[in-house]
Amino acid sequence: MGKLFILSAPSGTGKTTVAQKLLSELADFERIVTYTTRKPRPYEQPGIDYVFISKEEFEKKIKEDFFLEYANVYGNFYGTPKEEIERITQKEGKDALLVIDVQGAFKVKELMPDAITIFLLPPSLEELKRRIEARGYRDENLEKRLSTAHDEIPCARFFDYIVVNDFLNDAVEKVKSIIISYRVERERMLKEIEKFRLNKEIVIMVKGGKCYVKET
Ligand code: ADP
Ligand code: 5GP
Repeated sequence: MGKLFILSAPSGTGKTTVAQKLLSELADFERIVTYTTRKPRPYEQPGIDYVFISKEEFEKKIKEDFFLEYANVYGNFYGTPKEEIERITQKEGKDALLVIDVQGAFKVKELMPDAITIFLLPPSLEELKRRIEARGYRDENLEKRLSTAHDEIPCARFFDYIVVNDFLNDAVEKVKSIIISYRVERERMLKEIEKFRLNKEIVIMVKGGKCYVKET
């Protein structure tokens, strides 16, 4: 079973940018592509950034219980498909990354308490504004996104980890280390030790040998 990591932050902080770097640098790691009724931005690719669907299709999927959670964010619907989490973490045994807004992160954590939550903080509100503007298209929700950030930033202290996204590479390294630390935790290592490139003799010793300090 893979683990679900939830990456959240006020819009414009750099979640998508950090996620893209993480995905290119970590093996056995896949992003859950969420669904939205928002129109694609010029640089966005359908099926990679989001699955873009109409409001009618979204409403149909709500009725079919397709989403683990969904929300109306800045006038558009966004939803997390249940079956993708299952495919990645259960069928394929990989770790999954969910990039989601703050209210959605709380909802998913409530439904899946084992998920690990990471809050990305902008270094300042001025920099956050600059980043939203720097995305290179006119954002009609700029003021709304900034005022929502005031409400969202205090939520950081309810997350498992808080990472400041000042310098991109530093932030990516920190998030990566959260994921890697989880992967090498004792319980997980012991359960999945056969998966690692390890000599059989060492596997047997670690799993069943006697620790001479503790077990004489
Ligand atoms: P989000 O997904 O949180 O809404 P994005 O990943 O779209 O945010 O990032 C918003 C803008 O900020 C983009 O133009 C991106 O290139 C830029 N950005 C992201 N991280 C950094 C950083 N550490 N330093 C400077 N600019 C950044
Ligand atoms: P944007 O329009 O900037 O791509 O996204 C707006 C916000 O919606 C972001 O904070 C993004 O992370 C969030 N979001 C994306 N997918 C989902 C989802 O499936 N559920 C929820 N609740 N929020 C989402």
